Amino acid sequence: MKAVVYKGPRDVVVNNVPDAKIEKPTDVLVKITTTNICGSDLHMYEGRTSVEKGKIFGHENLGVVIEAGTAVERVKVGDRVCLPFNISCGYCENCERGLTGFCLTANPGNAGAAYGYAGMGPYNGGQAELLRVPYADFNCLVLPPGAEEKENDYVMLSDIFPTGYHATRLAGLQPGDSVVIYGAGPVGLMAAMSARIQGASKIMVVDTHKDRLALAEKIGAIPIDDTDQSGVDQILTHTDGHGADCGCECVGYQCCNRAGHEVPNLTMNNLVASVKATGGIGVVGVFMPEDPGAVDELAKKGQLAFNFGEFFTKGQRIGTGQCNVKLYNRNLAKLIAAGKANPSMIVSHELPLDQAADGYANFDARKDGWTKVVLKPGK
Ligand code: NAD
Ligand code: ZN
Repeated sequence: MKAVVYKGPRDVVVNNVPDAKIEKPTDVLVKITTTNICGSDLHMYEGRTSVEKGKIFGHENLGVVIEAGTAVERVKVGDRVCLPFNISCGYCENCERGLTGFCLTANPGNAGAAYGYAGMGPYNGGQAELLRVPYADFNCLVLPPGAEEKENDYVMLSDIFPTGYHATRLAGLQPGDSVVIYGAGPVGLMAAMSARIQGASKIMVVDTHKDRLALAEKIGAIPIDDTDQSGVDQILTHTDGHGADCGCECVGYQCCNRAGHEVPNLTMNNLVASVKATGGIGVVGVFMPEDPGAVDELAKKGQLAFNFGEFFTKGQRIGTGQCNVKLYNRNLAKLIAAGKANPSMIVSHELPLDQAADGYANFDARKDGWTKVVLKPGK
């Protein structure tokens, strides 16, 4: 089968590799029809992780079941399924509580498991023609009839739509709240859409990319361009000087403490400053235990200094971590089916799998107009 394979920093190729196959009776084999490039893939792509050469990337996957293991009962051959990026067993202590991003069976330890990701188990990704799906009865979200017409919407349920939603839940968003979101990438835009769905009164999205801010505006948010003027000051102006009721970090470590940022524009400090006293902050932007490219020694060890004193004085709360996709994906799917959510509005490029390297290079450069790339292995 063809698959997107990691060769080294900023070097991915589409190679012929051995076909994915069923390995355990609880697996299914999925023929991938849509698979996305994610901001999280860029951590590996840019060479900032320990990912091994030869790894097949791809954790945002959707396709059709073509074979089912002998122990699979619920999912059937022919079902169109969206796969949460978390691989989870469904029966460990964490999965039982809905914390499927921290499954203790699929990747023993604290990191959770995912398709095609550094440090998240031995699983290959779905930027390929075929994908092996473990614990299939638990993991597969079976999509409703007609889903093939809305694949670019449903595929967002594998990660970024639930992740954006998770950011707002970690932040404790309530109907009527104002919310500030740092980052107008795919995840930040999905946080904005999630805030709208939950009845936020004012949604403010901060970034420097005008094309991405325009999408935020389309979702109903106030775009805040902090290229020349402090984002924090603009948020305070929009919130009578008190700050937003809550805030979301949808940027991650790649933009903090890195060479080229002479004055690190730390999103955590900006959040503490632009969220009101007692407000909640949800961090879904990824911070890794190590960041070898960081400017200072502490950040190299994954230690991010932020204004903890101000955070404490303001009595704020913080929630962090990988999204537990299964907590949200079923209900978000119903919103898509009902025409009440259209996450595909952020898709800028639909490419055949063969053009994946181009997709990576342009999305990584955050080139104007390259907001979200979906790959179509069948085309
Ligand atoms: P992305 O990296 O393209 O988006 C980040 C956006 O933040 C960009 O538009 C960039 O211009 C903007 N930005 C950079 N510095 C900023 C600053 N100081 N202030 C405001 N905005 C700034 O891609 P993405 O797919 O949206 O991913 C965002 C983050 O979310 C990544 O770290 C990714 O790994 C993470 N993520 C986490 C989860 C999870 O489960 N927690 C899931 C998916 C992605
Ligand atoms: Zn992702």
